[in-house]
Amino acid sequence: MGTKLPRIYADFNKLHGDTLVLTTWGTYRSLCRERLCFSSGQRMIFFSEDLEVEGTVFYAEGSHTRPGYWAAKVIPDAIRDVPATDERLPRSVPCWSCGTDVTSVFERTGFPTSESCPSCGKPLWAPFYPPAESHPNVTTPRPAV
Ligand SMILES: [Zn+2]
Repeated sequence: MGTKLPRIYADFNKLHGDTLVLTTWGTYRSLCRERLCFSSGQRMIFFSEDLEVEGTVFYAEGSHTRPGYWAAKVIPDAIRDVPATDERLPRSVPCWSCGTDVTSVFERTGFPTSESCPSCGKPLWAPFYPPAESHPNVTTPRPAV
């Protein structure tokens, strides 16, 4: 260890067994603030207002009727109580790549958006993009990371 893991917001109501589902707006904004895109095998600390736990990110494959999504394997017994904080994530959204405030793009186009960053041109939804190998038929532009 010794490496500082990124701390990413998660909704612990979305913990099913040992799987923490990572599909919320708060998680997206948190990734953008850390300048990260999800990738399989990443180790992260997930936190909510008064809980935190370490986990390993993976992509849950979708089906014909259900889109895939990012989630993390965690050890439920390892979930720690942390001092509750009133600190809320800011509502503003920085571009995950260049940090430009892109809040207005989301206000205009909603969540999720297919827009690219007006400053750097990277797709704004890239932090939640599925891994390339899982969707060979999807033509959405992928970020150069
Ligand atoms: Zn940008």
